[in-house]
Amino acid sequence: MNTSTPAPASVTVIGLGPMGRATAAALMRAGHRITVWNRTASRADGLVADGATLAPTPAAAVEAADLVLLSLTDYGAMYDILGPVVANPRHAGALAGKVLVNLSSDTPDESRKAAAWARDLGADFLTGGIMVPAPAVGQPGAYAFYSGPKDLFHAHEPVLRLIGETKYLGADPGLAQLLYQAHLDVFLTALASLLHATALVTAAGVPAAEFLPDAMQTLTDIPAMVGSGQALAAELAAGEHPGELSTALMMRATADHITRTSAASGVDVELPNAVKSYYDRAIAAGLGTRNWTALYEVIKAQH
Ligand code: NDP
Repeated sequence: MNTSTPAPASVTVIGLGPMGRATAAALMRAGHRITVWNRTASRADGLVADGATLAPTPAAAVEAADLVLLSLTDYGAMYDILGPVVANPRHAGALAGKVLVNLSSDTPDESRKAAAWARDLGADFLTGGIMVPAPAVGQPGAYAFYSGPKDLFHAHEPVLRLIGETKYLGADPGLAQLLYQAHLDVFLTALASLLHATALVTAAGVPAAEFLPDAMQTLTDIPAMVGSGQALAAELAAGEHPGELSTALMMRATADHITRTSAASGVDVELPNAVKSYYDRAIAAGLGTRNWTALYEVIKAQH
C-alpha cells in the first residue's frame, strides 16, 4: 500500500447522511478541498462551517471536482440525483471524464448496471463498501472494499485510503458490493438475534442489563468455538462436516427449544423458526449426525 500523503485535491461528496458527513470530514482533515451536495441542504451545515463548499445543485457539485463520491441510501438515489443532471441538455456531458465512487449499499447487479450506465455517459466507476460505522470512518481499524478497474482504483487509492484501509477485490463492479452484503448478512443477523434473545429474557422478567453483558461475551466467544475462518472454509469446501460435539440433531433440538420458549413467552418466532428450518432440512437430507456445518449443504445455492 502506498503510504504517501496525497496532494490536496478537489473532491465532491454527494449524500450527507452520517457516512457521507464522516467521509467528507476525513478528507477535509487531510487537506482536500471538499464540495458537498445533499437533498436536505441543512445536513451540510457542520461541514460548511469547517470549510466545505455547498454546491447549489447536483450539476454544480459534479462540475466542482473530477472525483465524485456518493454516499446514499441506495443506487436509486444516485439516479434520482444525477439522472436529471444528464437528462438536461445544458448538462448532458456533465459526467464525461468524471470518476464516480459509489459508497452506497445495493445489490451487486445494481453496481454492475451503474458501472455500465456511467461508462455510457463517459464516466469511470468504482464500487465501494465501507465496513465501519460513521464514528470510525478515517480512524485506525476502518476499512472498505472496492472493485472496478484496477488502474482506476490505484489512481484514487491515496484519497480513498483516508476513509479507511482499502481492500481491492477485482475488476467486477459487483464484487465489493457482494462482500459488503455478505458481511452485513453476518452483522444484521447477529443484531437481530441479540434483540430477539433480549426480548426472550425480558418477557420472563429478567432485566436486559442482567443478560446483555453475557450475551456480548457469547458473541465474542463465537470465533473460538467455530475455529479459524480458514479452518471453517476448508471444512465447508470439503463438504464432509465431521465431528460429533455439535451435531445437526443436537443443535436442532436446541433450535426447537428456543422456538417453543419464544412462542410460550409471546415473543416473535420468525427468526428462531428460520434457524430451526435449516436444521430440519439438514436432518431431512440425512445429515443429522454430521457437524452443525452440514447446514451449509441446504443453505447454499442448489445447482
Ligand atoms: P442515510 O440513510 O442516513 O443517508 C443517506 C443519504 O442518502 C442522505 O444524504 C439522503 O438525503 C440521501 N438520499 C436517500 N434517498 C435519496 C433520494 N431519493 N434522493 C436524494 N438523496 C437521497 O445513510 P448513511 O449515511 O448512514 O449511509 C450511507 C450509505 O453507507 C448507505 O448505503 C449505508 O448502507 C452505508 N453504510 C452505512 C453505515 C452506517 O453505519 N450508517 C456503515 C457502513 C455503510 P437526505 O439527507 O435528504 O435524506
